[in-house]
Amino acid sequence: MEGLVLRRTDYGESDQVVKIFLREKGTVSAIAKGIKRSKKRFPHHLEPFRIYDFKLARKKEGRDLYLIQAADQRHIYEGIQEDIRKIALGNFLLEIVLIAVREEHPHPELYAFMKDFFRALSRSDAIYPLWFYAMIHVMGLLGFSPNLQTCLKCGDPLRKGEANHFDPAGGVVCPRCATRLSINSLSPVNSETLSAMQFLKRCPPQAASRLQLTETARGCIETCLLNFIAYHLGRSLKTLAFLKEVLTPSQIS
Ligand SMILES: [Zn+2]
Repeated sequence: MEGLVLRRTDYGESDQVVKIFLREKGTVSAIAKGIKRSKKRFPHHLEPFRIYDFKLARKKEGRDLYLIQAADQRHIYEGIQEDIRKIALGNFLLEIVLIAVREEHPHPELYAFMKDFFRALSRSDAIYPLWFYAMIHVMGLLGFSPNLQTCLKCGDPLRKGEANHFDPAGGVVCPRCATRLSINSLSPVNSETLSAMQFLKRCPPQAASRLQLTETARGCIETCLLNFIAYHLGRSLKTLAFLKEVLTPSQIS
């Protein structure tokens, strides 16, 4: 069964529990017996950002875990594992899948998206546009697509050049509704930010990596989308602090 690794946790001296995202089955937990000892059965150590063909033994009655009998490596997304920013971004996405996809609930569209996205990430260094692209599309595939064409409250088309706002509950709110409703979780959305988010929502991942953003728009989109994700997942992500750290240019030259 084709799948990718979401997380590995040490289990005893030589085993690991591996959370896997399978194309046909959704997420499952499986034990990799002897992974820390045996190079024979697991020559690749089950790394993230690779596609494997897993051979799993069925769960025994009353047990939560599958047993990984074999894992053949099918594909490596070259260039991710060598760049700390790409690893951090990849792990951020894997954490969203871990939180949002229930065990043994297949999600083939999200699985296909992850493969397309890792391909784009392996070929491009445009981390910010790819990050924003991924947030919009992963959340969309999970059923939470941000409203970016019309006002979330009144449904009027959004006009560029106006002081629009972003509501983490669902998307952009026009200035009239923002004043009338005085929602205190709103953040500002200028024209550049709105156009960039609209573009990212409709473009393929390769085009996303060509998007040029000013520092202001970047900060603005980051705030909107991170608030949107935290609102819908009901928590903030553990991988976010590390991602932000590696994306901040070092003060030491
Ligand atoms: Zn409105």
